[in-house]
Amino acid sequence: MVNPDPFWLCVIFIVGASVGSFVNVVILRLPRGESLANPPSHCPVCGKTLSFFDMIPVLSYVALRGKCRHCGCRISPMYPLVESFMGILFLYLGYRYGLTLLFFRQAVLLGLLLAVTVIDIREMLIPDELVLSGAVFWVSFLALSKVLSAWVQGPLKLLCEFPVFTKAAAEATFHATTDRVGAGLLGPPTCSEDLIGDLARGLLGGALGFLVFLAISLVTRGMGGGDVKLAGMCGLYLGPALTILAVFIAFVSGGVVAALLLLSGKARAKSHIPYGPFIALGAAISSLWGEQIILWYLARLLP
Ligand SMILES: [Zn+2]
Repeated sequence: MVNPDPFWLCVIFIVGASVGSFVNVVILRLPRGESLANPPSHCPVCGKTLSFFDMIPVLSYVALRGKCRHCGCRISPMYPLVESFMGILFLYLGYRYGLTLLFFRQAVLLGLLLAVTVIDIREMLIPDELVLSGAVFWVSFLALSKVLSAWVQGPLKLLCEFPVFTKAAAEATFHATTDRVGAGLLGPPTCSEDLIGDLARGLLGGALGFLVFLAISLVTRGMGGGDVKLAGMCGLYLGPALTILAVFIAFVSGGVVAALLLLSGKARAKSHIPYGPFIALGAAISSLWGEQIILWYLARLLP
């Protein structure tokens, strides 16, 4: 194991937190149909444009003690929370995958899921743009992995030896893991050399997620079209086996939270509870630890 260099750990955290600060912009502006680039970041209360020093992830919030420099209004703790979450996530993904395509693929998926979660809680909607960009990224990563696999000994190897991360872990996860869970078409599509296999696994997972939630929304009428599309997009990244696990986690976590809200009197039987966060949670857990969970379960089931 390469000793993690504190300098590079800080760099990765800062890059992740900066991505988190873009996720904040998406959360704030996408539901209102505003441009993500213009106008530059400003205080939502007094409208003053923020300077560079007001926009340093996490640190600015701490330095300003959570208040706008100009009007003194409270800045939502959502900003530093999303930024720190993405920073820590980048460190974990780096540790897990090394600086490989899988790292970027997981970062994109989990960043999108975080945006979906916060937007659905705040606005009770899941923007089509997020679901669509998830699908476009999925196709792009498949194409990119095919192109890059021609030079595995070249640029990708170099990425694996990036000083922050363990090289062995990176190489182990880079090579296809599809024969570990559900050999063949059931496993998750990874960024492997097997383009047709990844494509088939992803499309099967996407169709499964989409159809399961379509059936539920037709029966219960409690779930929106956004949830159905989101489940389909997640299935693309997960493949069939991990999609089933994600659906299961979404149901259990959604049921537990709904029961707690009902019991505590915070929600009534008729009130609408956003379902996107539970689909996102199921997909996130399943994409990160799904294979281990399924293998653990199968080992207990089959003596
Ligand atoms: Zn202000």
